[in-house]
Amino acid sequence: MDAAQNLAAQALPVAVIGAGPVGLAAAAHLLERGLEPLIFEAGTTAGAAIEQWRHIRLFSPWRFNLDAATVRLLESAGWEAPRPTALPYGGELVDNYLAPLAALPAIASRLQTGARVTAVTRAGLDKTHTRNRDTTPFTVRAEHADGETRDHTVAAVIDASGTWSRRNPLGTSGLPAIGEDTAAERISAPLPDVTGRDRAAFAGRRVLVVGAGHSAANTLTGLADLAKDEPDTRILWAVRGASAAKVYGGGDLDGLPARGQLGGRVRRLVEAGKIELHTGFGISSLKALDSHVTVEAADGRTLDADVVVPCTGFRPDLDILRELRLELDPAVEAPRELGPLIDPEFHSCGTVPPHGARLLAHPDKDFYIVGMKSYGRAPTFLLATGYEQVRSVVAALAGDREAADTVQLELPETGVCSTDAGTSCDVPAASAAQSDAGCCASPEPVLVGFPTGLSHGRSGSN
Ligand SMILES: Cc1cc2nc3c(=O)[nH]c(=O)nc-3n(C[C@H](O)[C@H](O)[C@H](O)COP(=O)(O)OP(=O)(O)OC[C@H]3O[C@@H](n4cnc5c(N)ncnc54)[C@H](O)[C@@H]3O)c2cc1C
Repeated sequence: MDAAQNLAAQALPVAVIGAGPVGLAAAAHLLERGLEPLIFEAGTTAGAAIEQWRHIRLFSPWRFNLDAATVRLLESAGWEAPRPTALPYGGELVDNYLAPLAALPAIASRLQTGARVTAVTRAGLDKTHTRNRDTTPFTVRAEHADGETRDHTVAAVIDASGTWSRRNPLGTSGLPAIGEDTAAERISAPLPDVTGRDRAAFAGRRVLVVGAGHSAANTLTGLADLAKDEPDTRILWAVRGASAAKVYGGGDLDGLPARGQLGGRVRRLVEAGKIELHTGFGISSLKALDSHVTVEAADGRTLDADVVVPCTGFRPDLDILRELRLELDPAVEAPRELGPLIDPEFHSCGTVPPHGARLLAHPDKDFYIVGMKSYGRAPTFLLATGYEQVRSVVAALAGDREAADTVQLELPETGVCSTDAGTSCDVPAASAAQSDAGCCASPEPVLVGFPTGLSHGRSGSN
């Protein structure tokens, strides 16, 4: 029995975990294929994670942020697409795209909000049982808004739950720094709205921003804007590496100009002394005092701050998948074959060969991790990549293997993105050559993404 017959015979829905942009796109593709989505969203509304960073402007324009199947669904209800070249704020992505999408009867009737998935397993089988595993439905356990926990039987599971709820700790070894838990009151959310919603917590305070990614860059520039009105605001910035070059980015070489400009602005603020940069500052402990928190580096240096902003990245919640048979890259915690293509140790490009169901498959058949969570701990995920993932995954679930394997390029070809001899594909050939698209096997790699103008990942900078 192939996948389509199997799903049809079971007459069961396909669970989609998370109503972010990728989860909702998966639902739209399922509907187009005549399959029944059952969407679980932990938050009170669709796009609950993006709601937390609604004040941040995306660096990719609308035309790369919309999924084709959702656009077809929305347009059939009279929706008008935003200007394709405009850069939306997170809030606009929610208000002008995700909220109208979630409100369509076809989606609303299949969306359960306030429903947090706490576990996924095969019905009646724990992880050690092999017999009939492939044809056994899944059980999705969810805690619902009414306080009840219920088990839902589904034919397949698409986990699009993102990584927003699991920030990496401040500690330098992947563990929380000693005292990090007890200092929780002095640690903000990862992307606070320092000039708006959260202004009072930052105005006139000593703020320590920790981390070297786009979140750090956004927070630092926001704090610099705040400091213009509130001159007592002091901005400290601690990075683990020997330099902040990664944040400054590729400038004019960045394929997304907004991203290049952000890094350039941070550089100028540091050079002008508006931001006090501390490099090589791997955090070992935090000591919360009544008046402030003291943050200590592994080499003994200390910084005093009123509030710490953790821009340390995110990691996937694998606990809910404990009873499933997964195959993950040991470093990146992405599906095994995807891991080497996006490993931040080697990649800074944000480019990746288009890939789909075959690359994202796990030993447990008909289970897929997609979207931000599919990148595990790698920070370079782009929505356009996720939309192609779910188009392919849903085609596979519908039994259309040809469509599933024809991974398509939805973005302009960016060619090689490194500034030296390497490409985004300079990963161990054996692993790269197995990708859906065979990226590195071809002489002219075709990549989805946008060059950052940086030459390498961490291995090139530290
Ligand atoms: C500040 C920022 C800027 C970004 N800018 C861009 C950009 O310009 N361009 C771009 O292409 N990408 C960008 N990204 C990356 C990425 O596209 C976004 O993070 C995007 O939101 C990922 O979509 P997603 O659907 O995979 O996950 P999310 O948007 O995180 O959605 C996951 C959903 O799952 C829900 N959920 C979580 N756990 C559970 C559970 N256990 N049960 C039920 N529901 C659950 C969450 O509440 C959430 O609604 C940016 C990311 C960040 C953080």
